[in-house]
Amino acid sequence: MKTISSMLMTQFIEALAKEMPVIAPVKNEETVSFQPWSAGMEIEWQKNSLIPPKNLFLPQVEVLYKYQVSGVNGEIEEIDADDSPRVLLGIRNCDLHSILLLDKIFLTDDYIDSAYQSRRKNTVIIVLQCSQPLSTCFCTSLGVDPRGGEGADLVLIELDQGVRGSDKMMYDPGRDFGIEARTPKGEEILKKHEDFLSDLQKKPAPLENCNLHLDERGVKEKLPKMFDHSIWADLSMRCLGCGVCTYLCPTCYCFDLQGKNVGEEGFKYRCWDSCMFSDYTMMAGGHNPRPTKRERFRNRFLHKLSYYRERYGELLCTGCGRCLAKCPVHLDITYVAEKIKEAKADVREG
Ligand code: SF4
Ligand code: SF4
Repeated sequence: MKTISSMLMTQFIEALAKEMPVIAPVKNEETVSFQPWSAGMEIEWQKNSLIPPKNLFLPQVEVLYKYQVSGVNGEIEEIDADDSPRVLLGIRNCDLHSILLLDKIFLTDDYIDSAYQSRRKNTVIIVLQCSQPLSTCFCTSLGVDPRGGEGADLVLIELDQGVRGSDKMMYDPGRDFGIEARTPKGEEILKKHEDFLSDLQKKPAPLENCNLHLDERGVKEKLPKMFDHSIWADLSMRCLGCGVCTYLCPTCYCFDLQGKNVGEEGFKYRCWDSCMFSDYTMMAGGHNPRPTKRERFRNRFLHKLSYYRERYGELLCTGCGRCLAKCPVHLDITYVAEKIKEAKADVREG
């Protein structure tokens, strides 16, 4: 492992930013989100962003093609996604895992979403290992290792304030990081910027355990019998249908396709949608197969706890804790899983 001292970190990022855009978690008023970094911007190293970085791969609004009609003739101009290289710096392992979950949707054998694929291919990922989970974090219950780095090109390791061996005199009391390459792309970056690195050996900062756990043992077996259970009406009663949970969730990927037509030209665009909104399943003829909050709420949690797992073998949740922090009525996934466990699953109620 190499080390970047706190004094050289900004210079290292500046050097990277001269080669390609660096997108990093920065604070705008009270909200931390991933933004293009420029000199003078302070990176939030302490806690994870409120806004997940999924928009970097699945933008909130994206034009797919433009068209022009002239009489009975028409022309379509496809819009290619921006595939210029960039660095995503400071993503946490929970959010990196969410991107691996989205890959299963957008990069399957049956269907490759070319825009998503371009952005994935052209993004160098530098993950930041966590050592201090927030009170809302439960990633370890979902099999996410806060120190992992699966899917990253480079791993930044927060270092202990102490040092080992004979390097004591070189100790820098600021925030030093270890850095390790996990892919050839990462190795290339380290080689190119070796002037910023040292061999100073420090221990990683001690890892604090998550205090919160999602214990969903038994949920998998119960859910198939609970489609018509009264629990969905009971739980969804207090849901406001605001969609905050889906917009902030790094693993939610529902989108809508909309068109805008002006005269003889127009464009088609994709935009985020939420399964918690009534319009989401509204059909052209006016029929809505999920007409009330009960059906919409049920679908969200069956998708997270059952449907995705049936297809891909894991839950559609990373334990990032954003729904715990921001659902205005505290209907988060840990609470819902507990209620499912408490419910009598063999009773079918309409
Ligand atoms: S954030 Fe809470 S209240 Fe809002 S839609 Fe989600 S579950 Fe319902
Ligand atoms: S369901 Fe909640 S805890 Fe799980 S990934 Fe989504 S926002 Fe994070």
